[in-house]
Formats: sequence, structure tokens, C-alpha cells
Amino acid sequence: MSYAPDSTANLARFNQTLDASAQIGVGRPGGLSRLALSDADREMRDLFVTWCEEAGLAVTVDACGNIFARREGTEPDVPPVLVGSHLDTQINGGRFDGIAGVLAALEVVRTLNDLGHATRRPLEIVNWTNEEGARFSPPMSASGAFVGAYTTDWVHGLVDDDGLSFGAELARIGYLGDAPCAPRPIDAYFELHIEQGPILDAEGRDIGIVTAGYPSHGMRVSFAGRTAHTGPTPMDQRQNALAAGARWLTMADDIGWAYAAYDGKATAARLVAWPNKAGILSDHAEAVCDVRHPDEKTAGLMAERLRRAASESAARCGCSYKIEDEWHWGGDIFDAGLVASIRAHAARLGFNHRDLQSQAGHDAYFLARHCPTAMIFTPCKDGITHNNEEFCTPESFRAGLNVLLHSVVERADRV
Ligand SMILES: [Zn+2]
Repeated sequence: MSYAPDSTANLARFNQTLDASAQIGVGRPGGLSRLALSDADREMRDLFVTWCEEAGLAVTVDACGNIFARREGTEPDVPPVLVGSHLDTQINGGRFDGIAGVLAALEVVRTLNDLGHATRRPLEIVNWTNEEGARFSPPMSASGAFVGAYTTDWVHGLVDDDGLSFGAELARIGYLGDAPCAPRPIDAYFELHIEQGPILDAEGRDIGIVTAGYPSHGMRVSFAGRTAHTGPTPMDQRQNALAAGARWLTMADDIGWAYAAYDGKATAARLVAWPNKAGILSDHAEAVCDVRHPDEKTAGLMAERLRRAASESAARCGCSYKIEDEWHWGGDIFDAGLVASIRAHAARLGFNHRDLQSQAGHDAYFLARHCPTAMIFTPCKDGITHNNEEFCTPESFRAGLNVLLHSVVERADRV
């Protein structure tokens, strides 16, 4: 048996591997709570590394904890084709988000091992650290560092709600690697991911060809006020940072509604304040919001309104404010050649496919800044995600797995 255009990945083996992952970091019924750099994350990483070594891969870990598992090609010293996603989850996450993409890459390698096919270029599977940003904000921090958008030191300095740092937690779980987390030549990057939206499921499609990402802007803003007694302090002398942050969040929500008719969205995502007690005004608040719109220019406009809203909410509450961090992703970023190749394989194999935009952020967005990149979406029930009820049937991965297999081999073997 050798590799052929009708070779198939082992769907049953893939689903068994997914089931094994679903036993680690169990959360609410059916879901996972496997936060980045937790003990459960370590346990999953250990198992993943074992699987990779059993598949004959050479594993390296970089300074941000990204795991790379390499299968050599027949041609030495050419950049590898990289395939993967993330194994961490949201606090009330599902067992497919991200995980399916890493394990699909593993299944591609296992299938090629079964077929005895050596690709021309090396293949590398990757597990990106902290894609979710559920524990350390912002999301996709380690793929960002890999492409040079962030420094390793900056990523190491991120802290969680308990004051624990990314760097310290990475060392604690034993995944502070030797390899530098910095840009290096990559031939192409593929990421399979569940859609995290309702379109494929509602239309009964087998697979989605991702043509672009919704342009998105996010920001983290701090508000500084002054603690004071909640009783005697007159309204015009208050500097209530909690109120300033809360105003900004509701203004963000209003921005979303203002653009909702054309599929714009804004998210008031997070607010923390200190001291956040009943008898005292808070002197510090920190909030996170983001905006998304299918049109790049309009997304930029919404982001500008969000910045102005931060300034207005601070002024209204007598506080000062600072935009601590800002991020932007999405747009027309995916490689047209790779997208066409994925579409052609989906059609050739007889799968019911359609083009669509990604509405969530993914590591692929950062990789697209660095090398030709493409994404494949698989259906998920009713689009439910970041929820323990996230569900994908075993069968729903058949199209994605096989299209991934053939697209990756085509790219890796090209002359
Ligand atoms: Zn994900």
C-alpha cells in the first residue's frame, strides 16, 4: 500500500484519540476545563508527546511552551509544512475546539506512516500554548510570539487572576523549552478547526473552506480612580473606576448593536475592579472588549469608537484611563493557492463544501503573517462552542481529515 489520491485517514483511530483527550481536564458534563499551563494541560501535553514519539516524531519545545513534533522529509534542510492547533480549552470548554486540529495533524502523520510515504518536505505537528487566553490574556499569545508579534519575555510576564505568571507556570509544568520562540522558515501552515458557528451544520455541509477571517480589534483598558467612602462622598467628587469600566462595557455593547444589521459584533468581555467592595469606591478597574465586522474598514471604525468610548467613560467618572494592550486580526489573510488546493480536494473527494469566513480568532491568523496559511472547518452541532455542550459526531471529521491529508501531502511533495 502506498500513498494515492484516494488514500484515507483512519477516522476511527482519530476519534479514539479524541476520546482519550476528553478524559483529561474534565469539566462540566461532556466538556473540558483544561486551562493553559494547568496540571491538566501538563497531563495532556505528556500524553500528546508520547503519541508523537510513538509515531516516530522528534519533539521539541520552545521558550513559550509550543510543542513541535517533526517527521523528516526526503529533502534535507528545506522548511517544514506545519500543521496543528491548540490543546488548551476555555474554563467551560468543549472537547473538540482546537484539540481536533492537533489530533487531525497527528492522524495525518499516522496515516502516512501506515502508507510508508515520506514527503519531500518535513512535516511538523504543532500544539500552540494558551490559544484560548482563558487564563492568560491575550489569546494566541504563544503563536503571536512565534511570528514575532510579541516577545518571549512579554509572554512570560502575563499573569493570571491569582497573580501567577505565564513563565513561572510554564516552568512548573515542565514545558519551558530550550528552543527559541521566534520566527523561523516555515513552508506553509494548515489548521483544521471546528467551525464554532452554525452555518455548516444548518446547511448539512461536510466541510468549510475558510477564505478569510472576520476583521477583529480587541483592547484591554485600565481605569484609575480614588477609593472613598460610598456614603458621604458627593457625586462630583467621586472617581469610581468600577463605574468607568462598567460604562465602557455597556458602550461597547451599544456599538455592537449599532452595526448589528450588517453583521457587526461587539463584546463586553471582562471587568475586574479593586477593591470591589460594597462600602468603598474602587480605585482600579480593568476591562476587555472587542469588535468584529466583515468589512475591514468598518471594523477599524468600530475600534475607533471603542477607544473614544474608553475616554468618555473615564471622563464621566472623573477617572484616568490607559489602553494597556491592543490587538487586531483577521481580514483577507489566507493564501489563495492553499485555499484553492483545499477546495479542489474537497470537490474531488465528493464532499459537500462551501467557502466561509472565520468569526473566531485562531493561531492561523498569526501564522498568516509569517507564511502561506489556510484553515479547514468541520461542522459542529448548532454552532455551540466554548460550552460543555459543544458536540461533533465522529463522522463529521471524515471530510476535514481526508482533505487535510491530501492538501498537506500536495504541499509537502510539490517540486
Ligand atoms: Zn480554538
